[in-house]
Amino acid sequence: MLKKLLFLIIILIGKTELNAQFVYHKDYNFNKVGSLIPTILQASDYGFNTGRWLASCINMEKLFITIAPRAYVDLCRPQNIKNMLKENPNITKSMFHKPASEVSQEELQKIHSQKYIDELFTDPRIIANICEMGFLPTLSFPPFSYNMDFFRKAALRPILLATQGTLDAVDIALNNRNMGKFGWAINLGGGFHHAKVGGKEGEDYSKWGNCAVSDEGLATLKALSEYNINKVLIVDLDAHQGNGNAWILGNNEKVAIFDMYNKEATGNYPPDQNEAAQLIKYCYPLTRYTEDEAYLRLLKEKLENAVEQERPDLIIYNAGTDPLEDDPEGLLNISAQGIIERDEYVFNLAKKIGAAIVMAPSGGYQRCTAAVIAKSLHNLVNKKIIS
Ligand SMILES: [Zn+2]
Repeated sequence: MLKKLLFLIIILIGKTELNAQFVYHKDYNFNKVGSLIPTILQASDYGFNTGRWLASCINMEKLFITIAPRAYVDLCRPQNIKNMLKENPNITKSMFHKPASEVSQEELQKIHSQKYIDELFTDPRIIANICEMGFLPTLSFPPFSYNMDFFRKAALRPILLATQGTLDAVDIALNNRNMGKFGWAINLGGGFHHAKVGGKEGEDYSKWGNCAVSDEGLATLKALSEYNINKVLIVDLDAHQGNGNAWILGNNEKVAIFDMYNKEATGNYPPDQNEAAQLIKYCYPLTRYTEDEAYLRLLKEKLENAVEQERPDLIIYNAGTDPLEDDPEGLLNISAQGIIERDEYVFNLAKKIGAAIVMAPSGGYQRCTAAVIAKSLHNLVNKKIIS
């Protein structure tokens, strides 16, 4: 009797855990970077928006964004998304999974060089550079002055936790698939597709676009080594090319990469996109201000074909929202409705072919991105595409 009861409890615990398909931890949020950084960001954002409003009055808004690009980084985006998801009666508390810890250094070694890992954990200038605030550790007053503890908590911890979140999402999605269900999991952080192996002499970390650790690379390797699967397809619809993923995974024959990105994003970022493109099997560079119709038509035609060719067991979906209209980094012209339709299409396709899917939100540089992501997830839940 006791044995039966224990067995039932184990099954119930297992079920609860597998039902927790939204992955989130409160420390995903960069809200401890002192009050200084958000204050500076908000102040300059205010100036930018005023300029943009003036430019829009004379129909020169696009030109203004081009000559005065100013990204708004929502430091609490994961929390903002979570708060909006909680408003949906179909999304219960038990649907949230919390990563137990930061990703381990042992895990990081599967992709990143030991030299880079050592630097990342000991030299605050590395993480500050990656998060595009390289000057901060050099300030000669507390809490900044070369204070690794501060930068570890403020900037590195959110990235390490979100990386563990993407790894947990693989477990949740593939275990559900193994049980014959539609295996899906959505991390509310992560999607660090520019991170590379690191550790090269003179490497310029300020070009890593806020991506310190390759969560999608590690997630892919985990899926291939721990589950009996043949193929992972990375579907990268962030406005920027996933150059880091290409360098890390492009030569792996059990991985194929599908990437639709704006080759003319601000600063033509990433700078090595032509070389990295050689490693992307399904590579579709777009031009500036591509609109919904052309974007969705190309996606539907090409992704259908890629999926037919690859027959993936798992899709890792980098669902950046910087293709959204008015994004000063992405410079595409996709409406919020277009983003929602895009996400719906990718999830429906995964479901149709019986693949598991793991989504990470990646880029997006406007105040509204959390709301657009939340709206898209509400749409998936309300249409019962995910449940
Ligand atoms: Zn991006």
